[in-house]
Amino acid sequence: MPYRHRLSPSQTVSIAQLETDGKDLHDDRKQAEQEFHELRERLIELQYRLYAEGRRKLLVVLQAMDAGGKDGTIRHVFKGVNPQGVRVTAFKAPTPAELAHDFLWRVHQATPASGTIGVFNRSHYEDVLVVRVEQLVPESVWQTRYERINQFERLLFESGTTILKFFLHISKSEQKSRFEQRLKEPGKRWKFSIEDLNKRKDWDAYMTAYEDVLNRCTTEYAPWHVIPCDQKWYRNLAITRTLVATLEEMDLQYPPEPSGLDELKVE
Ligand code: AMP
Ligand code: MG
Repeated sequence: MPYRHRLSPSQTVSIAQLETDGKDLHDDRKQAEQEFHELRERLIELQYRLYAEGRRKLLVVLQAMDAGGKDGTIRHVFKGVNPQGVRVTAFKAPTPAELAHDFLWRVHQATPASGTIGVFNRSHYEDVLVVRVEQLVPESVWQTRYERINQFERLLFESGTTILKFFLHISKSEQKSRFEQRLKEPGKRWKFSIEDLNKRKDWDAYMTAYEDVLNRCTTEYAPWHVIPCDQKWYRNLAITRTLVATLEEMDLQYPPEPSGLDELKVE
């Protein structure tokens, strides 16, 4: 169940067939929210252990179309975790300094250190998504990146990083209503960018680019999870289930206690 949205390296998916609607997967919103809140408490405990153990790391990659819910996921799912053990990095259009290096340079620096969780709000995948659709580099360049990304993620995995990649999948009509909402609410208008409308025009090209990402960059050590995200409550639950199950499987341990603690007296 916690891995029901995980892709397998041997399968080839067609993005049009991947569900965006979570309603059919859970029949009771109230109950889903209850389960989400309980799981989040567990996430907080597990993160504490990850930090205490101080050896392994977790990388959470979030990718989505605009208004897909990356920001909301971070706000809701990670609410209450110790900020000292979590680092969120948002990847924007590269700066001149970043462009003067290879595409993984800025990403590598943001990967989580031992004992911590790293959350990527967008990621190195933009380099085969927006960069491909907007033809920011020639095809001969972006075509080489899938394999480079797989190798990069393998390096992270072999260095003690568990990698969870989530594609927050929304329908085109759900994006329309979220954009309309953003335009209507004064507190949300700042989020709107004209660029978002241009990207919406290229929806099909983005879907093709995402399909290639899912099929070419799902590996045993770093699989993609395609989360139906038209309902935010289902999204929060599904992602938190996967996070908690993954951390449980890591069997995190407190470091050994110093000996002789029982005899100690604090004066
Ligand atoms: P937002 O996440 O809404 O703040 O927007 C960040 C913008 O940066 C998006 O339009 C991304 O497509 C863009 N972006 C992120 N990474 C890259 C990249 N490697 N090359 C070009 N644009 C990027
Ligand atoms: Mg935006």
